[in-house]
Amino acid sequence: MKFTPEVCRIKDQRMKPFIDAAEIWEHLNRPAPDKQGVRDIIAKSLSKQRLSLAETATLINATDPELIEEIKNGARELKKRVYGNRIVLFAPLYIGNKCTNNCRYCGFRASNKEAVRKTLDDMEIIHEVEALEDNGQKRLILVYGEHPQYDAEYIAHTVRLVYSVKKGPGEIRRVNINAAPFDIEGFRIVKDSGIGTYQVFQETYHPEVYKQYHLSGKKADYEYRLTSLDRAQEAGLDDVGIGALFGLYDWRFEVMALVRHTNHLEACYNVGPHTISFPRMQDAATLDMDGKYIVNDEEFVRLIAILRLAVPYTGLILTARENKFVRHEVMQYGVSQIDGGTKLEIGSYSESQNQEQDLNKEQFKINDDRSLNEIIEELLENDYMPSFCTACYRLGRTGEHFMEFSVPGFIKRFCGPNALLTLSEYLCDYAPEATAEKGWKMVEKQLKELENSQDTNEIRSRIEQIKLGKRDLYF
Ligand code: SAM
Ligand code: SF4
Repeated sequence: MKFTPEVCRIKDQRMKPFIDAAEIWEHLNRPAPDKQGVRDIIAKSLSKQRLSLAETATLINATDPELIEEIKNGARELKKRVYGNRIVLFAPLYIGNKCTNNCRYCGFRASNKEAVRKTLDDMEIIHEVEALEDNGQKRLILVYGEHPQYDAEYIAHTVRLVYSVKKGPGEIRRVNINAAPFDIEGFRIVKDSGIGTYQVFQETYHPEVYKQYHLSGKKADYEYRLTSLDRAQEAGLDDVGIGALFGLYDWRFEVMALVRHTNHLEACYNVGPHTISFPRMQDAATLDMDGKYIVNDEEFVRLIAILRLAVPYTGLILTARENKFVRHEVMQYGVSQIDGGTKLEIGSYSESQNQEQDLNKEQFKINDDRSLNEIIEELLENDYMPSFCTACYRLGRTGEHFMEFSVPGFIKRFCGPNALLTLSEYLCDYAPEATAEKGWKMVEKQLKELENSQDTNEIRSRIEQIKLGKRDLYF
């Protein structure tokens, strides 16, 4: 891998804090850029090169409406070139909401005495996973509060349990984690249970602002949180996800810091994060915010488009925190993964009735509670290709190896066909007739587009095998 000078400078920074707030503000306080400068940066990104901090700041500082439009168009085009029309689907599964921290934005915070605390027992986890499999889910992210009960052994146990649940044609093929960070040994234990991505969000990268929002508990330690994924990498866990909670501080600062975190991991471990998440603040029980940094829809689109251009090969995750209209609008600017059929209340996937959200039982309010099938229908109608692919991680194409593979052509050669195969499984096993009809039309259309590729016959043959009952075929 070739390092930029900026990356070389931070190459010896393993396990050390890497955010220099003054440096980030220095970039952001530069005068508005000229048009050509912005266009050159968009062109660099379209040639699939990651942007430097200075270049990212230039895109952020471009406030001329014409340039904003060009940035959005660039992001749309880059997404098409790198990811095609695929959108990978997953669902969150909350395992337990006990928490010893006091994050001012979260309904699970220790000081919320009205919160209904619950941790799923093994049988309940099995029932939840069966219900998720019955909907067609193949990829889950398990979510936990931070509590001594949820130590590395416990989390590893829940991961193994989830993988063991098979109902009919259903199985979970990739389990990701969003949980409090561990020491190196803890990350090793969790890695050995076979997880996909380990996500830890920094929430805000600004050290002083961080202190104001994280009042007590282990999470109040900014540096321990910031270096979490260094410890994961030291433990050999090379598939990690980063994120910032937008609404805590200036969105421009957080975008810069996410890029800095990316180049820190690249410089120190030869691999950037697999995914970036950009949750936007939602209502929650005991929410304690002044609203000063709320990100509006227009800024939200901009920040997604800029992230897309800044880190062309990093997956971008959009969740059901956003309503369906926002999701529809922003997806085109670079999102590669979304959740579907999401429920946050602990134990609610296996309940037959859909309940109104009760914020004392859930972490925050979600705004898209459509079923997985409704989401798939909408994707198909808008010419997106839903995918449940889990091939790379199961074939060891992760971390540095994934980066080697992520060269142009790779995604088209593997991810596209695997999307077709996993969608075909969904259409055979779970889709109502109307969705199946739209889905098979999409499969045919995609196959036609691949027509010249030597693999098309092989893909067709595998789809026929799936129709005859074979499962879990991938490239
Ligand atoms: N307890 C773990 C931790 O703190 O890392 C898991 C985190 S939590 C279950 C997942 C993420 O939800 C948090 O990292 C935060 O970014 C986000 N979140 C918390 N409160 C939120 C709110 N009110 N609105 C939107 N997202 C929120
Ligand atoms: Fe606990 Fe995580 Fe919520 Fe903070 S964000 S209160 S650590 S569950």
